[in-house]
Amino acid sequence: MPATLDRARLSDLLARERAEFARTHPRSLELAARARESLLHGVPMPWMAKWAGGAPVFLERARGSRVVDVDGHEYVDVALGDTGSMPGHSPQPTVDAIIRRVSDLGGITTMMPSEDAVAVGEQLARRFGLPAWQFALSATDANRFALRMCRQVQGPARSKVMIFLHAYHGTVDETVATLDAGGRVVARAGNVGAPVDPALTTKVVAFNDLDAVRAALAPEDVACVLAEPAMTNVGMVLPEPGFLKGLEEACAQTGTLLIYDETHTMSMGPGGCVRAWGLSPDAVTLGKALGAGVPIGAYGLSAELRDRVLADDQGDYLDWGGVGGTLAGNALSLAAARATLEQVLTEDAHRSMTMTCERYVAGVREVFERHGAPWHIVSLGARAEFGFTPRPARTGAEAHDAIDPLLDDLVHAALLNRGVMLTPFHNMALMGPTTTIADVERVVEVLDAVVGEIFGGGA
Ligand code: PMP
Repeated sequence: MPATLDRARLSDLLARERAEFARTHPRSLELAARARESLLHGVPMPWMAKWAGGAPVFLERARGSRVVDVDGHEYVDVALGDTGSMPGHSPQPTVDAIIRRVSDLGGITTMMPSEDAVAVGEQLARRFGLPAWQFALSATDANRFALRMCRQVQGPARSKVMIFLHAYHGTVDETVATLDAGGRVVARAGNVGAPVDPALTTKVVAFNDLDAVRAALAPEDVACVLAEPAMTNVGMVLPEPGFLKGLEEACAQTGTLLIYDETHTMSMGPGGCVRAWGLSPDAVTLGKALGAGVPIGAYGLSAELRDRVLADDQGDYLDWGGVGGTLAGNALSLAAARATLEQVLTEDAHRSMTMTCERYVAGVREVFERHGAPWHIVSLGARAEFGFTPRPARTGAEAHDAIDPLLDDLVHAALLNRGVMLTPFHNMALMGPTTTIADVERVVEVLDAVVGEIFGGGA
C-alpha cells in the first residue's frame, strides 16, 4: 500500500459509492429488509451479504456473461458465481440437457445410474488422466470423501492431512486450520464449532516451501496432502518452477498420497493444471463449474489408489461408512455435467476463454501503468487476479498480508455502480466461453476510471 494513498479519502470515496448504491438499488434494499425477517443472516448464505455496495444485490436473471439485478441493472459478470458459472450463465446445451432430463425423460433422482454418469466418467478420465471417478454434490464433499478414502487405505498410523497455509478447500473440518505466531497448528479464527483441535488432524505448511513440505512429511504420519496446484483463495499464488515436482517427489518418497483440488484451477484448461502442467496426483477433486451451477462434485483416483480402495475390505462405501449421499450421482447433476463437459467447456472454449483473459490481463496492466498504481495481476488460464502489491505473492501468508479490505471494498463497490461484478472476495475475474472482448474492454474501461480516481487523477 503506497504512502501516496490517503486512506481517509478512500473511506470517503467508499461512503460515496455506498450512498450511490443505496440510491440506485431500492428493490434490492427492500428485499434485504424483508429477508431479515425469515433468513438467519438475511441471505440464504452469509457470503451473499458480502457485496461491497453495503447490501446484497438480488438476482433477477442471468445469461452468458451478464446478470441483471431486481432493480434492472445489467452487469458484466466476471465473478461468474465464484467459478460455479465458469461455463457462462445457463449455457444452452446444459439447459437443453436439464430440460430433457427433468421434463422430457423425467427422473431427477432415482436409485439408478444413468448413461450420463458413464459419459462424465469417461470425459473426466480422459481430461485428467485418472481412471476411477465418483460423484458428490459439492467440491467440499468431493474433498471430504477423497480425504477419507486416502486415510482409510493409509491406515491409522497416518491419520493426518497436510494443507498449505491460507488454503481453502470448502468446509472440510481438517482444513479449517492455520498456524499461530509460534508456528503451531490452530483452528482458523472464527472456525464455527471446531470438532477437535486441528493440531490432531492437520499439518499446515507454507506454499512454495519445499523444505517445509519435506519436514512435514518426513515422520510419515500424513495420509495425504490436499493442495490446489496454484492457490486461488487468498488472492492467487502460483507455484514456483519445480515446486510441484518437488512436492510430488516428497510425497512419493514418504508414501504420502497427493490430492490436487482443481475446483478453481480447472480454469487452466480442459484437464486443469494436472493436464496443462503434466502433474501426477493420486486423486483430483472438482466441483462448482462441472454442472454449470447444478450441484455436483467429483473425485477421481489413480489406478493404484483405485486398486487399494477396491482391495480394502474394511471400509463401508455402500452404506454407513461416512462417504456418500442420497442425491450424490443423481441423474440431473450428471445430465448437466455431461452437456457442460461435452458441449460447453470444450477444448476450443477453453482456448478462447484463455485468450479473452489474456486481453483482460493486458488491459489491467495498462491501467495500472497509466495511473502509476504499484499493483500486479496474475492469471491461470481463464482466471485472473489483481492485487495491491507490486509483485505477486510467493506464499499464502504473503498474499494474506497484502489483502486490503478498504481498497477491496472501494474497487468492488465502484465497479458495481458502473455495471461490473467482480467476485466479492479478493479481486478475481473469470472469463467464460461467452465473455466477449467487448465485455473485457468494458471492465477495463470502468477499472481505468476507478483506479484513476483512487490515484487522484479523477474519474
Ligand atoms: N475447493 C476450492 C479450491 C474452493 O475454492 C472451494 C470453494 N471456494 C471449494 C473447494 C468448496 O466448494 P463448495 O463450496 O462448492 O463445496
